[in-house]
Amino acid sequence: MTNNQLMNPREELRELIAQAKEHLRYYGELGLTHIGGTPSILPLPQLAPEPTITMPTKQEHATVVSPFGEPSLFGETAPPSTETLHSDETLEDIRRDLGDCRRCKLASTRTNIVFGEGSPKAELMFVGEGPGADEDATGRPFVGRAGQLLTKMIEAIDLKREDVYIANVVKSRPPGNRAPEADEVKACIPFLFRQIAAIRPKLIVALGNPAMQALLDTKIGITKMRGQFQDYPRVPGIKVLPTFHPAYLLRSPDKKREAWEDLKMVRAFLRGEL
Ligand code: URA
Repeated sequence: MTNNQLMNPREELRELIAQAKEHLRYYGELGLTHIGGTPSILPLPQLAPEPTITMPTKQEHATVVSPFGEPSLFGETAPPSTETLHSDETLEDIRRDLGDCRRCKLASTRTNIVFGEGSPKAELMFVGEGPGADEDATGRPFVGRAGQLLTKMIEAIDLKREDVYIANVVKSRPPGNRAPEADEVKACIPFLFRQIAAIRPKLIVALGNPAMQALLDTKIGITKMRGQFQDYPRVPGIKVLPTFHPAYLLRSPDKKREAWEDLKMVRAFLRGEL
């Protein structure tokens, strides 16, 4: 028996009106003036079994999993992860170490490094792919059109930008807004991993393919993975929820409905309801 069947008709109506209002508020926040189309009733593809969500203990937080594979017969021979090498560092330490980074070819075309911004104690992190023109000009992540949509998405789940931490896979703008290339990601991603280890959020929302694939070390596409909680493989206890990139939502507004479903899961997770 569902909850609805247990409600009396008046309560049920009240519940439905509250849900409808919430949806309308979200669509309003995202700038939609009308809602068309037929809602999909197809079940979402399930690639991974529903994870058991357990909050990490402090001890678990302190342990960073080596991404370099299984221990050999002769014991742990893999090199320590970047996070282990820099345990207990702050975001300021990481920024200092990044310096005026010249570790990849993006350095020659960027204006400003976009390190990331937000609360160093954030429970929620958003990770995008890389700075665009506005971010390159200001040195701040997600401040252009996609960024404004991201801000609305954050506010739609009753948070403020200052409550969360926002960063990217690469910290310098790929020219012409192309996707970052493998060598660029390889050079830059250790800094993101260290930021995550320093902040230790409960949840990372991976925005789009490059962010999801870099964080989860997978080649699977976002359309299959979105809306499904995954374990962040490098630090036990941190979850990753892939969803569509706001720039994609600007190009494909019909996908905002699915993004809203994902955002509601983020809110429920942070409230301990999942
Ligand atoms: N797109 C991204 O992926 N990151 C930004 O910071 C801005 C746009």
